[in-house]
Amino acid sequence: MRYVSTRGQSPSVGFVDATLAGLAPDGGLYVPETWPSFTHAEIADFAGKPYDHVATRVLAKFVEDEIPAEVLAEMCSEAYASFTDASVVPVHQIAPGGFIAELYHGPSLAFKDVAMQLLARLSDFVLARERRTQTILCATSGDTGGAAVEAFRGRSNTKIVAMFPDGRISEVQRRFMTTAIEANVRCVAVAGTFDDCQAILKTSLSDQALKQAVGLSAVNSINFARIVAQAVYYFTTAVAIGAPHRKVAFAVPSGNFGDGFAGWMAKRMGLPISQIVIATNANDILARAFQDGRYVRGGVAATQSPAMDIQSASNFERLYFESVRRDGVETARAFKAFGDVGVIDIPPAALAAMRETFVGVGISESETSRTLVGTLNETGQLIDPHTAVGVAAWRRNRGLPDPVIILSTAHAAKFPEAVSAATGVTPALPAAAKGLWDRPERFDRLPADAEAIQAYVRAFAEP
Ligand SMILES: *Cc1c(COP(=O)(O)O)cnc(C)c1O
Repeated sequence: MRYVSTRGQSPSVGFVDATLAGLAPDGGLYVPETWPSFTHAEIADFAGKPYDHVATRVLAKFVEDEIPAEVLAEMCSEAYASFTDASVVPVHQIAPGGFIAELYHGPSLAFKDVAMQLLARLSDFVLARERRTQTILCATSGDTGGAAVEAFRGRSNTKIVAMFPDGRISEVQRRFMTTAIEANVRCVAVAGTFDDCQAILKTSLSDQALKQAVGLSAVNSINFARIVAQAVYYFTTAVAIGAPHRKVAFAVPSGNFGDGFAGWMAKRMGLPISQIVIATNANDILARAFQDGRYVRGGVAATQSPAMDIQSASNFERLYFESVRRDGVETARAFKAFGDVGVIDIPPAALAAMRETFVGVGISESETSRTLVGTLNETGQLIDPHTAVGVAAWRRNRGLPDPVIILSTAHAAKFPEAVSAATGVTPALPAAAKGLWDRPERFDRLPADAEAIQAYVRAFAEP
């Protein structure tokens, strides 16, 4: 399988190169040259199979012969052995026609573990094969950093530096990074905002000398391997409630649209998904795009669901490319214009194509709080604020004919402040994570200054 850029100006590459590269040289995102698919019988055969078995089957369509089949199977088996629930992503019903898929049973209690656990093993294997090492610089607003540290700690070919905005993430989120004791992990509290951290990451990635010296790379959600890993749970959860013999719909709390696009992929590969409800918080650029056909950047507001406080949903470029019939010239034009002026007017035919699958819903802060309380009262379950955004969007679309699976993207205990402010109940950490409070923290403090951080990365990473 070859991978092409959404901007049409880069040579095609294989799966491994697309995974390690992140962005294509022309600034676009990699997508497969053709979409593989599963037959109805193949999907039906996923029923009752272990999660890692389905993951191996889905990944194999994209990896093909670049990684030996038995190695891929072993990676999937190890990646999901770190989850505390035997079914990896359990599904349960909360109301007639409404189901919750619990994506938070991994080591850092958020859905980012599902992809990151696999990505760490994929990249470690490939680096060892090519006798290379890498240094990951990670900018996190909370969940990505914890998932990345959990996945890469102790790996022999990777060093990781996790930057987070000092004082602006929850203590649970911070401890998932700072209590790692392995020598290949460093954490940096940056005296600034998440945007400062991200700007430092971007500057550093474009510094060729630094890139060469330490093998700098990133693990953000434009990485195609992460998206493939996320398509897997669309299959397993849909099959668990009766697909492919009946259609299903999904409600997906969204920020960078990685999960949303993974759902589109699963549908493109043959899973009978009738609708995907894209649920945003007050940062509703995606909801507005599907509603009015205009993708317009706004200011970023801080909410109870901080992992979705985003006003530029990177993976939307992949959907746009598909919806303009894979026209790379048009996609490049549109996203360059978005970079310059912050607006894309989606062509009517492309908007109609998007609406065949997606509907967008923006959920306010007060509706999120009410949903946290309402779900606790009706089902006895504490959910996290991101999941609450998904549940609220499902409630608004109660008329959908097919059963809806709501993706629950984090454990309530990862956001105890917001959950207890709304419900009066403080969620308890699951037993597996209790050690977070016993282990000492280890991190350095640096100014929000690219030169200072780059000097730190060099000192840590240079052999
Ligand atoms: C990252 C994240 C999201 C948003 O996912 P995208 O794939 O970026 O849309 C939602 N919920 C939680 C808890 C997250 O960590």
